[in-house]
Amino acid sequence: MHDDADCIFCKILRGEIPCITLWEDEATLAFMDINPANDGHALVIPREHAKDVHAVSEVAISATVLTAKRVAAAIDAALKPDGINLLQCNGPAAAQSVFHYHMHVLPRYEGDDLKMNWGMRPGDMEAIGKFAERIRAELG
Ligand code: AMP
Ligand code: ZN
Repeated sequence: MHDDADCIFCKILRGEIPCITLWEDEATLAFMDINPANDGHALVIPREHAKDVHAVSEVAISATVLTAKRVAAAIDAALKPDGINLLQCNGPAAAQSVFHYHMHVLPRYEGDDLKMNWGMRPGDMEAIGKFAERIRAELG
């Protein structure tokens, strides 16, 4: 499976950088975004390194979508947001900042006024950890 020495998400997959894990299986990893656009913001990545939607394999993108569906259901049950966006970005103009294909599972709350390119603000790691505990409890 292709893996990139300098890619931050490959480093997370290799255990070289910590993350707050929600779910893992043989093809994917789901973890909390450290710059959450909203409470409960999570990411899903394939284990296979591919920079974007054009490069990712059909097997890896399928596995990623299935894990995103599972994580979205857990976020829905745990946090009861008003809505959830599943979205992913390709290229700098589309606000892609990490070039390892990934899907955002982004809870939405009425009136949050979130825009497509929401910018990055570091979250409170303790609060993120508490949201992760609640989401994990629904993932079983
Ligand atoms: P994108 O802008 O679509 O490429 O999304 C990349 C996302 O990865 C951003 O929301 C970042 O906050 C998030 N991110 C970057 N580094 C880390 C990390 N070490 N742990 C968790 N999330 C990260
Ligand atoms: Zn990578």
